[in-house]
Amino acid sequence: MSDADFLGNEEGLKRSLEMLLQTHAQSGAQPLPADLPDTGLGASAALELLAPLVLGGAAHLGAASSLAHMDPPTPWITWATTLWNASLNQNLLHPATAPVARRIEEAVVNWLAPYFGMSGGHITPGSTLANLTALWAARECAGIDEVVASDSAHLSIAKAAHILGLRFRQVATDATGAMLADQVPTDLSRAALVLTAGTTSTGVIDPLHLASEAAWAHVDAAWAGPLRLTRYRTLLNGIERANSVAVSAHKWLFQPKESALILFRDNAEASAAISFGGAYLAVPNVGILGSHGATAVPLLATLLAWGRQGLAERIERCVEISDSLAGFIKNDARLQLLAEPQSGVVVWRPARQDRFDDLLAALPPGMVSTTTIKGERWLRNVAANPNADVTTLLENLATALEMCLN
Ligand SMILES: *Cc1c(COP(=O)(O)O)cnc(C)c1O
Repeated sequence: MSDADFLGNEEGLKRSLEMLLQTHAQSGAQPLPADLPDTGLGASAALELLAPLVLGGAAHLGAASSLAHMDPPTPWITWATTLWNASLNQNLLHPATAPVARRIEEAVVNWLAPYFGMSGGHITPGSTLANLTALWAARECAGIDEVVASDSAHLSIAKAAHILGLRFRQVATDATGAMLADQVPTDLSRAALVLTAGTTSTGVIDPLHLASEAAWAHVDAAWAGPLRLTRYRTLLNGIERANSVAVSAHKWLFQPKESALILFRDNAEASAAISFGGAYLAVPNVGILGSHGATAVPLLATLLAWGRQGLAERIERCVEISDSLAGFIKNDARLQLLAEPQSGVVVWRPARQDRFDDLLAALPPGMVSTTTIKGERWLRNVAANPNADVTTLLENLATALEMCLN
């Protein structure tokens, strides 16, 4: 006799979908039991208990005024295929437990790698691990003992250097957070130079032509990498000279977490250098992860559904939203724009810094985040939401300005 909880329950799944598509108020949420329940509620009751909490308590990343973080809403085809993934539970560590999923990952990676001048790579659960993987390969392939990155590089770079026992050297940046080319050490013969394509704070792109200068060049394109598939592709010219590139798919490729790509110019060499084999493994284990799932399936589904053009349209729409917002801010004497946005990140503040907290409090939740640049606080919008509505955003901003800056 089979255990029905491991079979598809059409009614339960339909109910879960119905819940997903409803709006929920978190106020309906019941407190969770303090301890692990000894007897279970059953799947249906557990879902009813969780819906107000999980669905009602979540941030709405696709709302008209959501524009604060690098976390996008996800297209519904990724919800459907993520459900398939959960049900099938393929393990890409073993060809026997993921006969098709391994091929799908290879196909998706091979579709995307050429846009960055890379020959291949693999999927990781985020660019934090993609960056670590890249610098691990750099240490093995190029014998580097130092990582050089700008003082605006993501903290995962310093973390990776620390884990790998490599020295970490910071290069100064200009007022917008872009690496100052004339501050880069001249001898990079034992260094990995990390250039950021779209810094987390301000979205600026380091001078990517510097990629030819070091023993190993890695471009952290976690955020802005997908611009390579759009009409803004030339902003990332020079990326093809890197030895490795990291791109987060759960940012501007609109994928559910956790999804990113580590790409290598010479994938065969890099993958061999970070492979372990033997024992119970039928094929070598490449990279950091052990068991891992078919993250490529929702990405493949998205790329099939949209094509490059459909993807580009969504990203370009985000860039246009950020440009409109920046234009408004630049033309309002009560506000100060840090710089023209390069990759959908708008950094600004009230001209009167003493009104910073008032203005922040007057804006709806999810509309802005804050960042500190050269010791000063700024407001930050990140255009990761193609459904953000410029009219709504500008109305919210106008109302907040009326309230605290007039
Ligand atoms: C988000 C980000 C990372 C980290 O990526 P995760 O996918 O969050 O692990 C690294 N570098 C930059 C520039 C980022 O914006």
